[in-house]
Amino acid sequence: MTSAVVVGGGPNGLAAAALLAKAGLDVTLLEAADEVGGGTRSHEALLPGLLHDHCSAVHPTAVTSPALRALGLEQHGLRWLSADIDCVHPLDDGSAGVLLRSVADTARLLGPDGDRYRALFTTPVRHWDALAPEVMGPLLRFPSHPLLLARFGLPTILPATLLARLFTTPQARALWAGVAAHAFRPLSRPFTSAIGLAILTAGHAAGWAVAEGGSQAIARSMETVLRKHGGTIHTGVRVTDPRQLPPADVTLLDLDPGQVAALYGDRLPARARGAYRRYRRAPAAFKLDLAVEGGVPWTNEHARRAGTVHLGGPLAEVVRAERDIVAGRMPERPFVLVGQQYLADPSRSVGDVHPVYTYAHVPHGYDGDATEAVLRQLERFAPGVRDRIVGWQATRPAAFATANPNFAGGDIITGARTTPQLLLGPRPTFEPYSTGLPGVFLCSAATPPGPGAHGMCGAGAAAAALCHL
Ligand SMILES: Cc1cc2nc3c(=O)[nH]c(=O)nc-3n(C[C@H](O)[C@H](O)[C@H](O)COP(=O)(O)OP(=O)(O)OC[C@H]3O[C@@H](n4cnc5c(N)ncnc54)[C@H](O)[C@@H]3O)c2cc1C
Repeated sequence: MTSAVVVGGGPNGLAAAALLAKAGLDVTLLEAADEVGGGTRSHEALLPGLLHDHCSAVHPTAVTSPALRALGLEQHGLRWLSADIDCVHPLDDGSAGVLLRSVADTARLLGPDGDRYRALFTTPVRHWDALAPEVMGPLLRFPSHPLLLARFGLPTILPATLLARLFTTPQARALWAGVAAHAFRPLSRPFTSAIGLAILTAGHAAGWAVAEGGSQAIARSMETVLRKHGGTIHTGVRVTDPRQLPPADVTLLDLDPGQVAALYGDRLPARARGAYRRYRRAPAAFKLDLAVEGGVPWTNEHARRAGTVHLGGPLAEVVRAERDIVAGRMPERPFVLVGQQYLADPSRSVGDVHPVYTYAHVPHGYDGDATEAVLRQLERFAPGVRDRIVGWQATRPAAFATANPNFAGGDIITGARTTPQLLLGPRPTFEPYSTGLPGVFLCSAATPPGPGAHGMCGAGAAAAALCHL
């Protein structure tokens, strides 16, 4: 029987392993931690029963992911849930940019910017099912829907600050800036609209969904599919030497390029080795999980019903904060993402105490304490929130890296989305999943289409491995 070994059980390693097992291969997965899941795990750190997501929280790109759909995860325990409102970006005057599931409803709330918003998103959202496999895969290939892809792709070239000029109101501009900030890049650079446009389009097509029972449910459903098709999982195995790997026809690595370079060293072709060693990392996240009695008392009413709240103030402030973190400076007012997953999934709360998930964008490897900066941003838009906090836990950039070497320096998106790395992955090649070693493939979020719990990097690598076989 043809065999595969997968190193790393994050959503991409799991997707690759499950798809290969489904295709009839004998699959063994090796995972360093004591459970699989990588960036899709959940824990009860603050109170028994109070469920926090360790990393990924909200999943606009996972719900419609062709890879996750191919695995039929809903038949194996995964249930997607959404809050009433997808995302809110509050401003100091109490108003906010509000993102609803439907393009038309969002446009209506954006007032004078509504027509332009509708013009930007209506067509890509309507065709997202056809677009998703194109957008969520390697870009250097002949597309199946070239016109549709061109229609979606042209605005992605723009710096986010330029695309913001489409809008006139501070609310629409801030809403756009907050979503574009998911790229962890200076928003004045080319292609910084790409990630924001993909998130917004996928989100309108399927919602900013959370997994019932925590993001761990995504990993568990993939684990179930893998085992159902005969796959084997060994946890607690950190692979640092290829001699640890059982013999297999193909090897897939859910690792960051730096680890792959260290693992195979001179055995890698020189160009791949050089590219993996030079691979650029992104700024970091400083996470603060909170237990909040009665929920966050947002000034803006919409924010009280939103699954995600972006705290960064107006466009100019978000632009400044993102520029600072890339330059290695800690902003006084960092961009903060707040997750209120419990609104969609009340099973995560304990009585009236709710798990509130926050993280700030900070410089790569930041070793300071951003707790106060996060709390100040919260208090700014939700006065009195401090009095409701009954427990908290901070996760610093170094702690992310200790828990998972793929998040080196606290870089939670497995590599800077500079233009070449965004478009091509870790090295310029038509085969971004190939390491250059016959039968050895890279399947982590460093490869196209990049970060997220969508499993599409794993699916791309699994397809490349099957093609090789
Ligand atoms: C704080 C935070 C918030 C996020 N928010 C979201 C979000 O809301 N929505 C979203 O879609 N995405 C989000 N992400 C990103 C998402 O979690 C990642 O992009 C995704 O997990 C990447 O998947 P992966 O399989 O490539 O790698 P990972 O999830 O990093 O998994 C890699 C796995 O490999 C294991 N491993 C590493 N090295 C070795 C080794 N040498 N030997 C054996 N095993 C090894 C690790 O333990 C880990 O289990 C977030 C991430 C973080 C950290």
